[in-house]
Amino acid sequence: TPHTLPALLQRTAQEYPKHTALTFIGARTSYATLFKQAQQLAAALQKMGVKPGDRVSVMLPNCPQFVISFFGVLSAGAVVVNTSPLYTPHELEHQLNDSGSETLIIMDMFYPRYLEIQGRVPVKRVLVTGIQDALSFPKNKLYPIKARKDGTWVEVKPQGHVLNLMKVIDSQTAYPAAVDIQPQDVALLQYTGGTTGVPKGAMLTHQNLVANAEQSRLWMGDLRVGQETTLAAIPFFHVYGMTVAMNLSVLMAANMVLIPNARDIKMVLSEIQKSKATLFPGVPTLYNAINNHPDTPRYDLSSIRACISGSAPLLLETAHKFKWITKGANLVEGYGLTESSPVTHVNPIFGEQQEGSIGLPLPGVDALIMDDDGQPVPVGERGELWVSGPQVMKGYWQRPDETARVIVDKDGKRWLKTGDIATMDERGFFRIVDRKKDLIIAGGYNIYPREVEEVLMMHPAVLEAAAVGVPDEYRGESVHAVLALKPGQTVTEQEIRDFCRAELSAYKVPRSVEFREELPKTAALKILRRQLADEARERIL
Ligand code: ATP
Repeated sequence: TPHTLPALLQRTAQEYPKHTALTFIGARTSYATLFKQAQQLAAALQKMGVKPGDRVSVMLPNCPQFVISFFGVLSAGAVVVNTSPLYTPHELEHQLNDSGSETLIIMDMFYPRYLEIQGRVPVKRVLVTGIQDALSFPKNKLYPIKARKDGTWVEVKPQGHVLNLMKVIDSQTAYPAAVDIQPQDVALLQYTGGTTGVPKGAMLTHQNLVANAEQSRLWMGDLRVGQETTLAAIPFFHVYGMTVAMNLSVLMAANMVLIPNARDIKMVLSEIQKSKATLFPGVPTLYNAINNHPDTPRYDLSSIRACISGSAPLLLETAHKFKWITKGANLVEGYGLTESSPVTHVNPIFGEQQEGSIGLPLPGVDALIMDDDGQPVPVGERGELWVSGPQVMKGYWQRPDETARVIVDKDGKRWLKTGDIATMDERGFFRIVDRKKDLIIAGGYNIYPREVEEVLMMHPAVLEAAAVGVPDEYRGESVHAVLALKPGQTVTEQEIRDFCRAELSAYKVPRSVEFREELPKTAALKILRRQLADEARERIL
C-alpha cells in the first residue's frame, strides 16, 4: 500500500479510473474525475500561495467537495484541519486561531458563522461552495454564494479573498508542482476534547492514516476490491468516518454514497436501498435510530453485509435488531479514539466475535491494561487501556505538555494512554468499562455510568439514555438519568427507578430522572454526557 494519502488515491484512480468513487443525491463522480479535481485544487492552492505544511481548514459535511478538498489539500503538501459544521462562531474562532489556518474551505450555509469572526482569525482566503455546485458540476452552472444577513439570504460576490471552490477547481488546467510528501509528515489536525476540556489538535500523519485504513481492511477479511459500496453517513470531518468510511473506501476502490446529514434517517434508508450499499460503518445511536424509525420496515436493507460500530458502547439489543432488519448483516463492535486515527480494536467480522467486547487489537497494535502506577494488571482486572501501533498520533499540535500526558515510552515502544478503563480476558478480548473521567463516585463507591445506562436502555419505553454524576450532600455524588423515550411512549420517574432497582445495587439507582425529546449529541452522533452533567449540576447548585 502506498504510504501517503495522495499516492493512495492516485493508485486507485489509475487502477479503477471508471469506477464510481462518489454518489451524491444520484450524481456520480468516477475515481479518475475525483483524482483530477483533487489535482486541480492542489494546483490552485499552490498558485494562491499555500505551501507544504500550511494548515487549511475544511468545514464541509459529507459531499463530493469534502473528498475533493481533503485530497486536494493533501496533494499540495498542506495539512487538512477537519472542522465540525456544528461549531459556533466562538468554537470556529478558537480552532482557526489555534491551527493558524490561512485558508478556509466552507459550505455556504456555514459561511455566515465565519463572517461573525472574520477580523479575529488569520484566514486570508475563503473558498465557498454549496450543495448545488456538486449537483450541477461539471456543467458550469455555478450557483451564487449566499449568506444570511439580518434574517435574509443575500448573495456574496465571489471576489477578493472569497472564491467559489468549484469554479477555482474548474479553471485549473495545469498539474500541481511536485511536492515531496513523506509518510511521517502531518496530514491532518483532528481536534478533540470538545466534550472533555480545551480542544486540542491531534497531529495525524500520512502514515498514521494509511496504516489505519490498511489495518481496518485486513480485519474486514473478504472485502472485494472495486466491488463494494459504502454508505457514508457518519461524518468525514470526524476521524472515525474519515478513516472507515472515506480512506478505507479509497483503498478498496469502493463507491462512497454520501449522506450530508446522518440525522436524516429517511435519506439513510432510501440511499441504502437505492445504492444497494454493502458496507455501513456507523455508531450505536445511528443503528438504534434506524431500528426504531417508523419507516424502516418499508425499505429493503438486505444488501448490507458488514458494519463496524464504534465511538460508544454498542448494546446487544441494538446489534441484534439491526442484524434482523438487514437480514443478517455482520455488525461488529470496534473501538478507537482520535489520537489513534482512530481504530485500535475490532471484533473479527467474519470470525469468532464476542458480544459486549470491543474485540481484539488490530494487526500491528499492542494493547495493555495498566494500573495507576503504570504496571500491567492481571488478566480480567480493570485498568487503563494503553495502545501502541503505527496509527498512534505524532502528538498534539503545539501542546507538548498535553502530549507528554498521554504519550509515554515504555519497553522501547510509544504508548498512548487512552483514558478509558478496560479489561482483557484470557483469550485477548477487550471490554471497555467506561471512561476514567466519567466515573461517578457515590458514598465512596465507584459507579460506571455505562452500567446504569445499559439497564436504562433495557426499559421498553427508552430510546436513549445517559447517566451522569451530580453533587449530592450526603454521598458526594449521585446518579442522575436523562432519557429520551421512543415515539408514543410514556413512563414516570418512579417507574424508571423501580425498574433500575430490580437490576442494580441501591447506590447505582438514579436519584433523579429527567425526560427530554432528544439527547444532545456531537456531530458524530455521540451523546454529550458531559454537557448533560454540566446542565444538571447547574440546576442543582
Ligand atoms: P472529545 O473530542 O470531546 O474528547 P471524545 O473523547 O469522545 O470527544 P473521541 O476521540 O471522538 O473523543 O472518542 C474516543 C472515545 O470514545 C474513547 O476514548 C472511548 O471513551 C469512546 N469509545 C469509542 N469506541 C467505544 C466503544 N466501542 N465502547 C465504548 N466507548 C467507546
